[in-house]
Order: sequence, then structure tokens, then C-alpha cells
Amino acid sequence: MAFEGLADRLQNTLQKIRGKGKVTEADVKEMMREVRLALLEADVNFRVVKDFIKRVTERSVGQEVLKSLTPGQQVVKVVHDELTTLLGGEQSKIAVNNRPPTVIMMVGLQGAGKTTTTGKLANHLRKKHNRNPLLVAADIYRPAAIKQLETVGGQLNLPVFSLGDQVSPVEIAKQAIAKAKEEHHDYVIIDTAGRLHIDEELMDELQKVKEISNPNEIFLVVDAMTGQDAVNVAESFNEQLGLTGVVLTKLDGDTRGGAALSIKAVTDLPIKFVGMGEKMDALEPFHPDRMSSRILGMGDVLTLIEKAQTNVDEEKAKELQKKMRDMSFTFDDFLDQMGQVKSLGPLDELLSMMPGANKMKGLKNVSIDDKQIGHVEAIIKSMTKLEREQPEIINASRRRRIAKGSGRTVQEVNRLIKQFDEMKKMMKQMSGMMKGKKKGGMKF
Ligand code: GDP
Repeated sequence: MAFEGLADRLQNTLQKIRGKGKVTEADVKEMMREVRLALLEADVNFRVVKDFIKRVTERSVGQEVLKSLTPGQQVVKVVHDELTTLLGGEQSKIAVNNRPPTVIMMVGLQGAGKTTTTGKLANHLRKKHNRNPLLVAADIYRPAAIKQLETVGGQLNLPVFSLGDQVSPVEIAKQAIAKAKEEHHDYVIIDTAGRLHIDEELMDELQKVKEISNPNEIFLVVDAMTGQDAVNVAESFNEQLGLTGVVLTKLDGDTRGGAALSIKAVTDLPIKFVGMGEKMDALEPFHPDRMSSRILGMGDVLTLIEKAQTNVDEEKAKELQKKMRDMSFTFDDFLDQMGQVKSLGPLDELLSMMPGANKMKGLKNVSIDDKQIGHVEAIIKSMTKLEREQPEIINASRRRRIAKGSGRTVQEVNRLIKQFDEMKKMMKQMSGMMKGKKKGGMKF
């Protein structure tokens, strides 16, 4: 996961000061030395680190902090506040055109994730905001770029405007916007050409596309894994084109985080979204305060709740509760539930959003393996309908057949059935307890 090293180090450092009843100026200075090293090691821009340390130190040694009843916690709060400011402060939302369509131009170097992000953004606008975006294929140079966007559009069932690779991007943008007006698309997202390096010709062309399309937003897509290079790329594009925001991709990888923590301070551009994976729903609006909480091990419960709200089917959840109560829970329900958990995203990513998860050393080693979930699914899918409903009929020969059908071992099948049994027993006990309580009345 991104920020892992930085998060570990900052959390260890803050842990030392958090519980202290008395904090001296020397304690703060000592802590700040460690914070400074942690940030530099995470590849945060040198000047940015210097300013950050200065601000946190000034605020922390202020009278109100050190003399407060909980000085340790107050210092941690200062770090959290300043980290949030560093990441951009308030969440920066997409600017909206009063007279639709809102035009968003996507720019960036080749390989940064521009085409993928164009699709993800359209998907986000439709799914979360009920919008009707038109995707525009204006990268006529990279072989297969148009095809790639068309494939993405096809997957998402979203229209893609293209005129092939023989028409200039300026003309494509112009016609696309006219079409969007005609067909009442409220957003137009233009996927422009990228190069391996910034060159004048590219910038000239992007400027022309900008002039003709008069975009409300120009998002630079940058790869977080490239660290300070991402910051340099952002500076150059911004100087020449006047960007309005940044989308940082590949934050699901093990980037040290330097780009995320430096970009706003160096370029003054807000990070609008972050890419958290290759799938079309792996794009998150960027919330500086939530990211800051994640880095400091305070969790990101809000994002977790939002994910659950959009992905978990409420009706199904209710039905499940009922089944648990009256003990009619089957392997099919088990499969269903696993599907719901899976739809929330990779499990280690979910864990990173829980407060204190970083500190639970045990959790790190129990890597919850998405592959294992796949195995469990395969086993359940190899059972007959009757077996799923009445697991007690699964005898030795049935177990062998299920193992063979799923490509797993008999031991794995045994283990799963045992776990399922234990789970049912636990549910029975729990529902027994609940009933007991109800009868006796709650005595609080
Ligand atoms: P473009 O040249 O800028 O249009 O880049 P593409 O959209 O073709 O993306 C390049 C590669 O990066 C593809 O393999 C994408 O699947 C991958 N990619 C894009 N965004 C992310 C992300 O947020 N996380 C991960 N892990 N991969 C990504």
C-alpha cells in the first residue's frame, strides 16, 4: 500500500508523544527530527519538508498546546492539521459549467493512466452523480489509444466520440462538444495525446484544444509511483497550459507518497482524484483530511462507510439478518455475502482504512488473500443446490467430488464445511442470547 513506510514511521513517532502528560519544547524538537526524516525518506520535496516542520514546531511549542491538559494529543492534532493542509486542505470538487456541458480536458504523459482515468471519471460521474458524460478520443498518435477508449466506453456502456486518427484533435474536440450539446450530454471528457516526454509540439496542440474547447477543468494525470518526477511534470504542464487540478494514479501501489505530499505545496494545484487500481471503479475523490487520517493511523471510516453505502445492497443485508435469526443461513447466502465484501475492494485496502489497523502487527502477517476467497467461491460453486442448502448431507464421497470439481483439496473442502458449521453455531448462540435478553428485558 501507498504511504506504508511513512505511515509506520509517523505513527511510531507520534505514539511516543501522544500519551504524555507533560511535553517540553525539547520533546517536540526531538519528535520533529524524526518526522523530518520520515518525510524525506518518503521522497517529499525538501523545501516542503522544511516548511512543514517549521509550521508544526511553531504551533506545537505555542503556549496553548504545551500547557493544555493533553499536550501529547494536541501535538498529534497539530501534525494532523498541517498534514491535511499540505495535502490541500479542503476537498476540491469539479467545477461545473452553468451552461452544460461541463468540459474536462485530460492531459498527461504516456503511461500515466490518462485513458483509464478518463473512463473511471466518466463512470464516477454517472454512478455517483447521475450524469451523462460523453467520452472523446482525441489521442490520435498513440497506436490503439482510440481503440482503448472505445473498449473502456463499451465496458461501461458509455458513448465514445471518435473521428479516427486522420482528423486533428482540435477538430475532434470542436465536433464532440457540438454533439454533446445536441444530445444533451452534461459532461464532455476529452482524452488528449500524451508523449513520453514533454515537448513543444504537444503543448502547442494541447493549447489549441484548450482554446477551442474552453474547458472548465484541465486535469493532469500523473503516476504517483514516479515521485518527485510527477511534481516536475505537474509544474511544467501547469506553466504552459494552466491546469486546474491533478489526478494521482497508482496510489494502490507501494509509492512512498512523496508526490501526493509535495504536489499541492509546489504547484498550488489541488489533487482532485486518486486512482486506486486498474478497475473502472477504482477512482476516489481526494479528501485531504481523510488521507491525513489514514497516514496517521486514525483510519478513514468515512470512505469505508461511503463504499459500503454504494456497494452493499440494503435489502439483502436485511434478509441476511433474518436468516441468521431463524437459522436458515445456507452456503448460497455465504457466497452472496462474500461477493458483497469483495465488491468493496481489495481487503488489505479496506483494512488500511480502519483506525489503528497499521498498529495491529498481527494483521499485517495475516494477509487476507483475495485468492483464497476465490478458492472458497470455487468450492461452494461446485456444490449442488441441495448441498448448499443442507450441508449436513455432504458425506465423504460428496466431499471428494466437490474437491475435484473445484480444483481444491479435500482438506480445504473439509475446512470450509467445518468453518461454516462453527459459524452457524455461533449465530445460534448469539441469537439465543438476544432472545434471552428480550425476554428478561433490558436492564440498563
Ligand atoms: P495513458 O497512456 O496515460 O493513457 O495510460 P493508460 O490509461 O493506458 O494506463 C497505463 C497503465 O496504467 C494501464 O495498464 C492501466 O491499467 C494502469 N493504471 C492506470 N491507473 C491505475 C491505478 O490507479 N492503479 C494501477 N494499479 N494501475 C493503473
